[in-house]
Amino acid sequence: MIAVDFKYKKLSEIPIDQEVVIAKVKGSGAFRKRLLEMGFVKGKSVKVIKNAPLMDPIEYEIMGYSVSLRRSEADLIDVIDIDDIKHTDEVIFNGTIDENRLKTTIRKATNKINVALVGNPNSGKTTLFNFASGAHERVGNYGGVTVDVKEGIVNYKDYTINLFDLPGTYSITEYSPEELYVRRHIIENQPDIIVNVIDASNLERNLYLTTQLIDMNVKVVIALNMFDELEKSGAILDYKHLAEMLGIPIIPTVASKGIGIPELIEKIIDVYEDKDPIVRHIHINYGENIESSIKRIQKAIKEFTELKYKFSTRYLAIKLLENDRETRRLISETSKTQDVLQIVDEEIKKIESLYKEKSETVITDLKYGFVSGALAQTYKPGKINFRKITRQIDKIVTNKYLGFPIFFLFLYITFEATFFVGGYPAEWIEFGIEAIKNIFSNYVPNGPFKDLIIEGIIGGVGNVLVFLPNILVLFFFISFLEDVGYMARAAFIVDKIMHKIGLHGKSFIPIIMGFGCNVPAIMATRTLVNKKDRILTMLIIPFMSCSARLPVYLLFISAFFDKNQGLVLTSIYFLGLIMAAFFSIIFNKLFFKGQDVPFVMELPPYRMPTLKSSIRHMWYKASAYLKKMGTIILGLSIIIWYLSSYPKNENIEKFYDEKIEQIHNVTNLDENTKNEKIDELNRIKVAEIQANSYIGKMGKAIEPIIAPLGFDWKIGVAIISGLSAKEVIISTLSIIYKANDEGISLKENLKKEKFLYGPNKGEPVFTPLTVYTLLVFVLIYFPCIATIAAIKNESNWKWALFAIFYTTSVAYITAFLVNNIVKLFL
Ligand code: GDP
Ligand code: MG
Repeated sequence: MIAVDFKYKKLSEIPIDQEVVIAKVKGSGAFRKRLLEMGFVKGKSVKVIKNAPLMDPIEYEIMGYSVSLRRSEADLIDVIDIDDIKHTDEVIFNGTIDENRLKTTIRKATNKINVALVGNPNSGKTTLFNFASGAHERVGNYGGVTVDVKEGIVNYKDYTINLFDLPGTYSITEYSPEELYVRRHIIENQPDIIVNVIDASNLERNLYLTTQLIDMNVKVVIALNMFDELEKSGAILDYKHLAEMLGIPIIPTVASKGIGIPELIEKIIDVYEDKDPIVRHIHINYGENIESSIKRIQKAIKEFTELKYKFSTRYLAIKLLENDRETRRLISETSKTQDVLQIVDEEIKKIESLYKEKSETVITDLKYGFVSGALAQTYKPGKINFRKITRQIDKIVTNKYLGFPIFFLFLYITFEATFFVGGYPAEWIEFGIEAIKNIFSNYVPNGPFKDLIIEGIIGGVGNVLVFLPNILVLFFFISFLEDVGYMARAAFIVDKIMHKIGLHGKSFIPIIMGFGCNVPAIMATRTLVNKKDRILTMLIIPFMSCSARLPVYLLFISAFFDKNQGLVLTSIYFLGLIMAAFFSIIFNKLFFKGQDVPFVMELPPYRMPTLKSSIRHMWYKASAYLKKMGTIILGLSIIIWYLSSYPKNENIEKFYDEKIEQIHNVTNLDENTKNEKIDELNRIKVAEIQANSYIGKMGKAIEPIIAPLGFDWKIGVAIISGLSAKEVIISTLSIIYKANDEGISLKENLKKEKFLYGPNKGEPVFTPLTVYTLLVFVLIYFPCIATIAAIKNESNWKWALFAIFYTTSVAYITAFLVNNIVKLFL
């Protein structure tokens, strides 16, 4: 049977006489209990007797008798229209409603559980999310990889679980965007269950967050993740006892291997169905003084606001005592709150004069006290201390003298490997594409269709596809360094330099992510706490050579540099870093004088990633790359092919064909010279035809602008096409530099290209110098449309326009300088 997705509505919104089925009873504590006792349980049908827009209470018929509910209570009940269910194919059998099927469908329709993953950064939430839902979201061994809510679905037995992967937080206060984000998700989306993912190798800090969830009085299941590390270290945790003390079920998991996940899901369902014996709502005891303050505020909230239906009043009271601005705002938005806030201020004063400390600090300390107490009874630390091993490795890797050489070594190895390891499979793919091309050229009759396939599609897409292996190797190295935990160290060692250029080490992670793709990198700037860091980091991320630029580098470097290929490649990447540093300093001075906030940099323990996760990671990247191939690159290749092939100019063709014919007929020349001349003429013929095509005319129009960089119009056209995505530069080049005789590769063609006119007439277009100039230009100019759109989304139009303008002008100036300064020396 296919699952049908029914829309949930609030019971309070249902008009008179309508019959509905109860899907979910939300809310917490006493109110929820009261509703359940009155018979408002999942799967039962309810009929509306009396309801008018402003009427309170509303009257319902349930299980044969009538009950009245307040509107605010009816708001807490999610229902489904019974008619919606009755009219589905699942229920109607031979034209009539099948009662049994109706029951099953109702059960299925109401078995939808919303589950949110909440936990510290790096505790394994995304790994767990991926495993449970079969998704391929990014994981990494450092904080701040997940910046968005990701939603996935788990189907288990009769249940549909909507799983939400949230950004990591240490706390649910309001200091960082992630914290506010997680808090809003919990409050606004009201997940049925929260899975608190805990890093078992760092219990104390992780359980601190749990105490906040306890205050919120939400349904929680703890995934005691990284249980393998806990066991390996020899530590012992009586998690069953701990679960009883917390009133929260605990399931040990090893998310990276999928261990414990089925049990976790079973437990989620049990808790959702109110069947788990461990679940109970405990109160963390904050001691007599604070408890009495909490009680007083609670009473005021109950008396003066309507918030009691949606929130635990104890939670609100604690938050108010912590002087939480969000909660104060929430309170002041509801009626008659002056009284509440006045009482809060009185109580805070009382606490602060008693403890001689900020009330917030007092509560934090008490929470930690609670955690230590619980662990003292249940936890015995192990003999092997992974943190100690980690610290020893860190001594070398983050050493004052060794840190940087090691960092550069890793980068260099990465690029060498990208070149050489990726090179072999690239050859196989090239071979395969050549074979396909031959099949088409042998079996498809000559004509525009054949040209489209061979020159447009195979030429355009095939030449980009060739670089897939290189890109995979690069991604493998980057993600390996991330997963092991080295990237966090890299961020640490560059922290000092980053400060010099007006940024934090923390900005380094989004910057490094830019090597993969600028778009997620720009999104990752959300993890930076202040706005200045975010904007500044966003503006320099385009200097990071993303994987789309890599094929362009690889093509030209392998064609025009015989030696030191890895070094040339590394130099381009480095130039990007230097540019980034330079402009960071400039922008910092120009736009954001003197705004700086210190914070702690995390060094997570080293972890060996599993092969499976690395392969998943690679496949995910590969599929994204292939998708781009089938959409943007294919589409643009066809357009560019058309523009470069039309309008056809028969006169030029005829003119050169006659010339070639004449050479054939000359008798006093030997074959070799003849062929050479014919080759040359063919080349000129193609060039002339192209120069008269649509694209040729466009290229000619911009040629004067780029001529000072040593570029001809064809390069100009390629550069413009690269605005959409930089791989398209290659597609464009392969279409414009189409081989005039069989079997000549794009590289060979580029090498043979000569200027047909102008001061350099007859000289090759591509010298190592022009090539390097071009690579510099490609590195720096307009990143791509998707990146600009990301900058706009994360900031505003102003910064997006600025990014377009400054990258392109800097590219021009730098390329001009490179080209002309080197010429002076030669
Ligand atoms: P998130 O920040 O909470 O989303 O954490 P991630 O899912 O990105 O994982 C952080 C790191 O921990 C990654 O390197 C994972 O491969 C690793 N990891 C996740 N779960 C486990 C586990 O159960 N055991 C071990 N040893 N490593 C894990
Ligand atoms: Mg994550």
